[in-house]
Amino acid sequence: MSEQERHDTRLDRFVDSYSQRTNGMRVSAVRALFAVANRPEIVSLAGGMPNIADLPLHGIAQSIAAMIEHNGAQVMQYGSGQGELGLREQILEVVALEGITAHPDDIVITAGSQQGLDLVTRIFCDPGDVILAESPSYVGAIGTFLSYQTEVVHIPGDDGGIDPVALLETTRRLRAEGKRVKFLYTIPNYNNPSGTTQSMERRREVLSVCESQGVIVVEDNPYGLLSLDADPIPAMRSIDPNVIYLGSFSKTFAPGFRVGWTLAPHGVREKLVLAQESATLCPPVFSQFAISTYLSTQDWQGQIGVFKDMYRQRRDAMLTGLEEHMPEGSTWTHPAGGFFVWATLPEGVDSQAMLPRAVDARVAYVPGPAFYADGDGARNVRLSYCFPTPERIRVGVQRFADVIRNELEV
Ligand code: PMP
Repeated sequence: MSEQERHDTRLDRFVDSYSQRTNGMRVSAVRALFAVANRPEIVSLAGGMPNIADLPLHGIAQSIAAMIEHNGAQVMQYGSGQGELGLREQILEVVALEGITAHPDDIVITAGSQQGLDLVTRIFCDPGDVILAESPSYVGAIGTFLSYQTEVVHIPGDDGGIDPVALLETTRRLRAEGKRVKFLYTIPNYNNPSGTTQSMERRREVLSVCESQGVIVVEDNPYGLLSLDADPIPAMRSIDPNVIYLGSFSKTFAPGFRVGWTLAPHGVREKLVLAQESATLCPPVFSQFAISTYLSTQDWQGQIGVFKDMYRQRRDAMLTGLEEHMPEGSTWTHPAGGFFVWATLPEGVDSQAMLPRAVDARVAYVPGPAFYADGDGARNVRLSYCFPTPERIRVGVQRFADVIRNELEV
């Protein structure tokens, strides 16, 4: 059987058996680009992988060996559905850096914050329920929301984040239409994909609208500690303990351990633990012990400083390149942290249609529509500066700008 035949869905004998839920599952636009973007001649401004090449591997290897010797086979045993208490206590020190005070019991450890997104959607949403999402939003969150057959409605915003007036009006309109609005999904720090940050004032306004409307707030904050200019703005969860907060070690340490956490009020937390137990029995125990040991034996805050210096150089290389090369009519965001710049192309240029020509010109990016559930974002692209070196970023941005120029001439 040929490779083509192996992938031909007409030959899938289970084709009539899949749940309706699978119809909402989308191939991640970023993952679909991976094969192309990884070709060495292409400068990939597409992927969002953290650059962990400079992690102190020797020290980590030694501390993992010491962890096994110290704890024995327990690190390879099943563990608590809520996650290891020791790690939950350490996470309190991490979230304190963003102004959050909590109790270890408020935390559920998850297999990355991606699993937190899945569990939160699972416990709150029935098919047809509405999730309000910042505009644009993380592609992996939209994918999860749609896989639960929810309706994702984007709330317009600007460089300062969600527009509270639009949030209020949209919520009222949807409710008047008889829709069940469940939660607002927001990435207030260095949004993926837009790179924008919500001001403190905006955070308060958004929280106040959600409180008045009985809309739950889900704050997704994997990049919060990767602030590249000023100190991070305190988390929304630091203002309101009812906010459901998703955190992760993926960007401040390493994603391969698959350890994140959800901070939630008591009742929600109990449901999350039940959902976690039904999904995986318990979050990965070995990884939790490894992270716990990393936090207690290595200079993790110093390492975050190293990451920040590296990402700052890359962000600056991208912003300088954009300034130098982008054609008139383009605009872009100036992220104060995280991994991404969001560019708006000149009128008439379609980011999706342009992609094959960009790949021919040896540069890749993610077209804007990936970050909307409704196909918006045709003139937008996400440019990541996290992975390539500053030199490659400069080359990539120049190629990218040339491709846009060619589109304008056609
Ligand atoms: N939320 C956002 C905004 C992200 O960008 C990502 C990863 N790219 C995640 C959640 C998931 O991260 P992880 O599961 O590795 O913690």
